[in-house]
Amino acid sequence: MNEEIKEKYLQAGKIAAKAMKKAGELCTPNRKMLEICEKVEEFIRKEGAENAFPLNVSVNEVAAHYTATVGDQNVLPKEGVVKIDLGVHVDGYIADTAQSFSLGGKEKELIELADQTLRSILASIKPLMEIKEIGNIVEKEVTSKGYNPVRNLSGHSLSHYNLHSGVSIPNYGNATMSEKLQPGKAYAIEPFVTKGTGVIYNDQKSTIFKFTDRNKKINGYEKLLEKMKEFNGLPFTPRWLNDHYEKFEEGILLLVSERVIDAYPVLIEETKNRVAQAEHTILVEEEKIIITTKRD
Ligand code: MN
Ligand code: MN
Repeated sequence: MNEEIKEKYLQAGKIAAKAMKKAGELCTPNRKMLEICEKVEEFIRKEGAENAFPLNVSVNEVAAHYTATVGDQNVLPKEGVVKIDLGVHVDGYIADTAQSFSLGGKEKELIELADQTLRSILASIKPLMEIKEIGNIVEKEVTSKGYNPVRNLSGHSLSHYNLHSGVSIPNYGNATMSEKLQPGKAYAIEPFVTKGTGVIYNDQKSTIFKFTDRNKKINGYEKLLEKMKEFNGLPFTPRWLNDHYEKFEEGILLLVSERVIDAYPVLIEETKNRVAQAEHTILVEEEKIIITTKRD
């Protein structure tokens, strides 16, 4: 990785860390999710970067992938846990980070376990370490405390304008993949923990989408497709479409069936137990690991 690219990853990480601090201040009971999303996303733009995906505000048994919809009236509940997962990019070089916050003083043990699991991974991670070792650390740390990791959510490699660039990082033990952490590459490490079975399912609802086919033409949808190109293949939410929002809502079933867009369904823990998550982005160098999203 050349210095210029590394600088962009570091810059994205720094802004992501500041944005997370801002998000944490906004995570109070009865706060509108739409307000949190708009304020944090705007903060990222004002810092001179772009959102790599819509701000995820996932409450209690919702493990991931909820962002506020247009006119969203949902508020944070009085009690429980909220996961903020945010993405920042500088010229396509991404920082992906998540933190869980207590609502009404609840779930502090669960949140601490997610944080501690991530700390344990980062304390032992090294260049060329086998990726399945990360899963072993998660499994041991989490089950020894009487909890379960969410086994079907994983970390991932990152590349230019690509949030999931091929390598998955398991959150369970005895995985079978043979990849190692490669110098010159970026990865997001993200354990999820719960008292439930640790299996998530796809809800019917999706609030986040990805524009997958940049060349397809669909009559009557030219302007909307042009607009969606602006996200460079990164996830977006209908809130970001402005004047094109109504056209999107009208055409959503067609666009999904034509495979012009993919939906990211809201992910829910199957036993409806609360879930906590912690996530940092790392750069792997020849001799060391850099945590780009580290907060002070
Ligand atoms: Mn994330
Ligand atoms: Mn991630």
